[in-house]
Parts: sequence; C-alpha cells; structure tokens
Amino acid sequence: MSIPFTTIDLDFDRTHLWHPYTSVTNPLPVYPVSCAYDVFLELEDGRRLIDGMSSWWAAIHGYNHPLLNEAVVTQLQRMSHVMFGGLTHEPAVTLAKQLIALTPEPLQKVFFSDSGSVSVEVAIKMAFQYWSALGEKRKIRMLTVRSGYHGDTFAAMSVCDPETGMHSLFKGTMPEHFFAEAPACRFSEPCTEEHLADLSLKLERHHSEIAAVIIEPVVQGAGGMRFYSPHYLRRLRELCDRHHVLLIFDEIATGFGRTGKMFALEHAGVVPDIMCVGKALTGGYMTLAATLTTERVAETISSGTPGLFMHGPTFMANPLACAVASASIRLLESYDWQASVLRLEAGLRKGLEPCTPSGNVADVRVLGAIGVVELHRPVDMASIQKQFVDKGVWVRPFGRLVYLMPPFIMRDEELRILTAAVCEVVDTIG
Ligand SMILES: *Cc1c(COP(=O)(O)O)cnc(C)c1O
Repeated sequence: MSIPFTTIDLDFDRTHLWHPYTSVTNPLPVYPVSCAYDVFLELEDGRRLIDGMSSWWAAIHGYNHPLLNEAVVTQLQRMSHVMFGGLTHEPAVTLAKQLIALTPEPLQKVFFSDSGSVSVEVAIKMAFQYWSALGEKRKIRMLTVRSGYHGDTFAAMSVCDPETGMHSLFKGTMPEHFFAEAPACRFSEPCTEEHLADLSLKLERHHSEIAAVIIEPVVQGAGGMRFYSPHYLRRLRELCDRHHVLLIFDEIATGFGRTGKMFALEHAGVVPDIMCVGKALTGGYMTLAATLTTERVAETISSGTPGLFMHGPTFMANPLACAVASASIRLLESYDWQASVLRLEAGLRKGLEPCTPSGNVADVRVLGAIGVVELHRPVDMASIQKQFVDKGVWVRPFGRLVYLMPPFIMRDEELRILTAAVCEVVDTIG
C-alpha cells in the first residue's frame, strides 16, 4: 500500500506523551505506525507486522475495512455529532435495536457511553440507584472475584483485582468492595461446592450491603487471561437471586464472538440484570460502549428519587461511532464468523502447542480466538517487544502473559507465523 506519511516526531512523543501505563522519565520504545489494513500494521520504516492483538480485542474485522470505512464516511457527511440530550438520531436507534436483538431477551434498555470503563461506572450506578429506589439504602457495595479487570476509572478500578489493580496505591480514594476467590473450575469442568464456597459465604454474610456482583463471564481478561467454567455463572445467578443481589456481566472483552459465542454468557445460558459491551462494538474503529439492562431495573430506577438515571456523557451515542458499530455488527452477521473463530481456535491450539514443553512456560490455554501462554516469570517488555517486531508480528505481553487475539479474518498461514513467533520468543527468554 502506498499511503503517504509524514515522519512521526519520536523525540516529541518521548518528551511529551503519556502512553498506557508508562513512565515519562524512563519510557519504553514505541513503534511508529503509518497505516493499518487487513491484519497488518505497517511501521514507518516500511516493515509490516502481523497483528496478534486486534488493538486490544477491538479490531475483529481487521483494519481499514471498506464496509466500515463507508459507514463512517456516509455518516460523516450527515453529521459527526450532536448532543443526545433532547435529540435523537437514526444511528443510535438502529444500533440499540441491533444490541437488543443480539443480547438475551430480558435486556431491553440501552445506555450508550464513550468507553468500557464508563459503561462499568454506569452499570454500578444503575445497581446503586435500583436499590436506593427500593429503599435499600445500605446496599452500596459491590462483590466481585479476584483476577478481574473492569477498567481504569475509579469505580471500575475499585472492582479490579486488588493486586494488579494497585489498590494499596489508591487506598482511601476508592470505595472498598468485597472480593471472592477467582473462579478456579476450568472451562470444561463443572464447579464443586468448594469452588463456590468463598463466593457463597461472602454473599450470605454481606448480602444486605451488596448491590450487585460484577464479573467477566467465562474469560477474565486483563486481570489474568483466565478461562473458567460456565457452570460457575449458573450457580452465581442462583446465589444472586437467593440473596437479592443484582448480577452485572462485563462483556467488554468477550463480546462480539471472541470466545466462540456472540457473547460469553451464551456458554452458560445465564441472563444478567445489567451487561456492559465495548471494545469490539465498533469493530475497533471508534470509542463506544453500552450498558444494557432489564425493564425491571430500568423501571425501578425511574420510580425512585429523583426519577431519572443520573448520567449523561457529552459524547453519548456519538453518531459516527454508532454508525460504524451498526456496520460492524451487520458485517459480523453477514458471514459464518463462528466458523472463523473455530478455525482460529484450532490454529491457535496447533500453533501454541509446541510452547508447552519449554522450561519458561507454565501453561498454554486456548478458547475461541484467544490463545494464552503463561510464563513462570514476568517478561522484560522492551526486549520481548523488539524480538516480536523483528519477527514481523505485533504481540504485546503483560506480566507473565503472552497472549494472542487475532482479527477473525486472519488466514491460516499468518496465524502460523504469529504462533511460531510466540513459541520461538518464549523459548529464548529467561
Ligand atoms: C478493556 C476493558 C474494560 C475497560 O474498557 P476501556 O474502554 O479501556 O475503558 C472494562 N472491562 C473489561 C472486561 C475490559 O476488557
């Protein structure tokens, strides 16, 4: 592809820009990207990397997709944004219809926001307002499980894993919630009473203070890349009902096919009271998230004081983002995406299997289009990142986890190169 580019001022970047989770005094190198298309990121020096990250779960259709581009351009010519207070528009209504049709039937009310973290804030606020409207003023705490990740804003961070979420650093600034042990039953096995004992105990003891349980269904993402049994979610639903606690599913990472089902909750057949989606919602084009809830929760909130749901971001339901999200969902529904994810699952298994015997590797696991190689020790980011780039792939590990979640359109040969690079690199480190 010959798209002209200007030279990126890396010195300025190094001196003035924060990147995610970085030091400004001792920044790690960043790689200048000039363009992205299909499953490739093209660096400024002309090197082309096979993308193993889908830009953090989002770019499920790859980059620069003609249908998604067209959706943005068409909407841009009508309007890029108008406030959502007192106004509405076709992209928001169409997308809400699609989301309601795709998610379990009881989820009927949609709140759009600008990022995953905000959709989690909204979910938590919905739970608090629900109980407040019912006169249950003591139910203002959350219960979650360890190893979770729900975002970086304060309410979202307060339900992330206490260690990886650095709760000690922010102590006193955040609400303190209840944490049960992370689900320990593996994806393919049922849970025993022992697996549920801690969760069950915490609900029994503290339900009068707990507004909701929040959890990532089936796959815990950035908090540890752990897969667990759908059976856990069925038991969790029963426990929440028994103890009058709402259930929030955070499908921000798992939504839109990544685990082999449209939403991970389908593995369990469980319906939450509130559900968050984001990341792949727009096919990775723009920042948009949504919080869905049931008639019961929405009507209860509206029956309390002040009779309104108290949230309303400036860029709520941004028309450009809604239009591209609609197009992304239509694109997903236009082909047999499940077959693609199954094909990627098989390719990830086959390709990452050779990693297993390596002395550095603690575990290899694959579910849907997610492949994880867990190491015994944390990686050295700067050196491992360079090794991957030198091999022509884009893989960004964190801590002890080297993981892949390629765009669904990746071909077998590219996946083979990607997985081979992972095995070679994890073999040489340590
Ligand atoms: C990424 C993520 C979030 C936060 O989304 P942002 O768009 O980064 O704010 C929340 N929950 C889960 C499960 C995520 O993977």
